[in-house]
Amino acid sequence: MTRRHRIALIPGDGIGPEVSAAARLVLDAAVPGIEWIERMAGSSALAERGALLPPETIEAIRDARVALKGPITTPIGSGFRSINVELRQELDLFAAVRPARSLPGVPTRHTAVDLVVIRENTEDLYRGIEFAAGSPQADALREELRTLAGLEIRPDAGVTVKPISVAGTRRIVRFAFEYAKANRRAMITLGHKAGIMPTSDGLFLRTARADQIDRGNVSFEDMQIDHLTARLVREPGRFDVLLLPNLYGDILSDLCAGLVGGLGLIPGANIGWEYAVFEPVHGSAPDIAGRGVANPIAMVLSGAMMLRHLGEMAGASAVETAVDAVLVGGEVRTPDLGGPSSTMAVAKAIAAALNA
Ligand code: NAD
Repeated sequence: MTRRHRIALIPGDGIGPEVSAAARLVLDAAVPGIEWIERMAGSSALAERGALLPPETIEAIRDARVALKGPITTPIGSGFRSINVELRQELDLFAAVRPARSLPGVPTRHTAVDLVVIRENTEDLYRGIEFAAGSPQADALREELRTLAGLEIRPDAGVTVKPISVAGTRRIVRFAFEYAKANRRAMITLGHKAGIMPTSDGLFLRTARADQIDRGNVSFEDMQIDHLTARLVREPGRFDVLLLPNLYGDILSDLCAGLVGGLGLIPGANIGWEYAVFEPVHGSAPDIAGRGVANPIAMVLSGAMMLRHLGEMAGASAVETAVDAVLVGGEVRTPDLGGPSSTMAVAKAIAAALNA
C-alpha cells in the first residue's frame, strides 16, 4: 500500500493511550495509507527515557510536520514546566483553534452553537516567566520594580510576567482573519481586559484594531472578557469566532466545551507556519484513566481536523458525519454522555458508520 501521509502519534498520559488507539482505528478506516510514527511524551517518557519530552519526540514531529497528540499530565505546583506549553513554544505553534459546535443527539441548554476559539498560544501569562516567592530572582525583581515604577510588591509574593507583543499579536490576528475567510465565518470577537492591563491586553486590542490586513467580509468587534463570558453562557449562538490571548483562550475553550456537551467532545489544533499538532481540549483525566470509558470523540474529531489540514477533505467530512451518526443513534456512547459503552466500542461504531 502506498503511504500517503506520515504522522507523528503521541499517545500521552492517562486516557491518552486509550483515546489515541480509538482515533487511530477510525482514521485508518477513513484514510488508508497513514504511516504512524509513535513517540512518547509525559510520564511514560519520563519513566522510560528519563525526559518528559525526549528529543526523538520533537524530532519525529519536525520530520512529519504533523502530529496527533493525546493529553499529557502536568503535576500541579511541582516546578515541572508544562510539556504542552514547551511543545507549543519549541515548535512555535502560535495559534490554537478549537471549534465548539452543537452536536446532534447531545442535549444541552443551548442549541445551534457554532463557535471557534482562536487562542494565541505562545505569549501572555503562559510564557513561563516565573519568579518564586522568596527567591533571589524575585527579590531582584522587586528591587527593579521599586526603581522603575515606584511600586512595592510584598516580599512573600510570587510573580508571573505577562508579555504580549505587537509581532505576536499581528500574526494571530492575521491567522484569525485568514481562518474566518477560509471557513466562511462572519464575525470575529476579540476578548480583552484592556482597561485594567493597557500595556498587554491594551496592546493586543490596539494592534488588532489597527492592523492593515485584508479582512474580506469578516466583521470585527471587541468585548471586555468578563462581559464576553457572561454573554457566552446566555447567548452563545450570537458568537462566531473568538480571538483571545493565551490565558482567556484556555479558559473560554473549556467553557465552550461545556456549552456543547463536555470536554469529551471538543477537538483542537495547534498551528504554526511550519508544524501542526492536533489534540483534544481535554486533559489526561486521571479520575477515569485505565478503565476504557473515556470518550474518544474529541480525539477522533481532532483527527478529522488533521485530515482537513492534510488536504483529505472527503476523509475529514466522512469522519465528522460518522461521529454525528453515532451520536444521533444514541445507543453507543460513553458514560460522560450517559451511556454504557467503552472507548473502543464508540470507535468501532464510528468506523462502521463511515461505510454506512
Ligand atoms: P481533564 O480534562 O483531564 O478532566 C476534567 C474532567 O473531564 C474529569 O472529570 C475527566 O474525567 C473529564 N474528561 C476529560 N476528558 C474526558 C473524556 N475524553 N471522556 C470523558 N470524560 C473526560 O482536566 P484536569 O483534571 O484539570 O487535568 C488533568 C491533567 O491533564 C492535568 O495534569 C492537566 O495539566 C492535564 N491537561 C493536559 C492537557 C493537554 O495535554 N493538552 C490539557 C488539559 C489538561
